[in-house]
Amino acid sequence: MTTDEKKIELEKIAGEINNFKGLDIAKNATHAVPGEGNPDAEIMFIGEAPGQVEDSTGRPFVGQSGQLMRKTLLETTGIEPEDVFITNIVKFRPPDNRDPFDNEITACADWLDRQIKIISPKIIVTLGRFSMAKFIPGVTISQIHGVARYYQLSTLNYQLIIFPMYHPAAALRGTTMMNAFKEDFVKLKNLLAPQVKIEDNASNHDQLGLF
Ligand code: URA
Repeated sequence: MTTDEKKIELEKIAGEINNFKGLDIAKNATHAVPGEGNPDAEIMFIGEAPGQVEDSTGRPFVGQSGQLMRKTLLETTGIEPEDVFITNIVKFRPPDNRDPFDNEITACADWLDRQIKIISPKIIVTLGRFSMAKFIPGVTISQIHGVARYYQLSTLNYQLIIFPMYHPAAALRGTTMMNAFKEDFVKLKNLLAPQVKIEDNASNHDQLGLF
């Protein structure tokens, strides 16, 4: 797919999300938050669900935790937030920022799967436990954050890398978590270094730890 074709497909999905009224959180949203960024992004960030600032602007990760994520990305890796693609598991704000319900995650899953297929990133960074659980269920984030693993999606003909991170909102709660969050960005930067020969390490296993 060319960049323009990807853009058109992503806009189509955004249109579907913006017009969707099949969940209470969708009916009550000021704005849906489909996601934004470079259609050719090598890295895709997937968070949980929009917060208040995201709901009022229609943009992902632009509130306090989003600003921390965008700033740490730029400062640590040199990558502009516009050069990645940023989205969420759930595209509408749950009231009072409660955890998303299973039916909300399910209702939004097809949009996310299509976004991933169109963008075809090399790396998916999951922010927080809900997006981690989509790819790596049955683990705790404290055990596996900062550890890259290969992952085969049925919709893609190559193995991408899943890189789980703490949610930036958790990092804002204390120094220990902030340090872990920032250290994981350094690991992400190392993962992007040309000397990391990702293909050489690939195997047929669905999930292969890299570190
Ligand atoms: N938290 C998320 O998980 N996503 C956003 O877009 C904003 C805050």
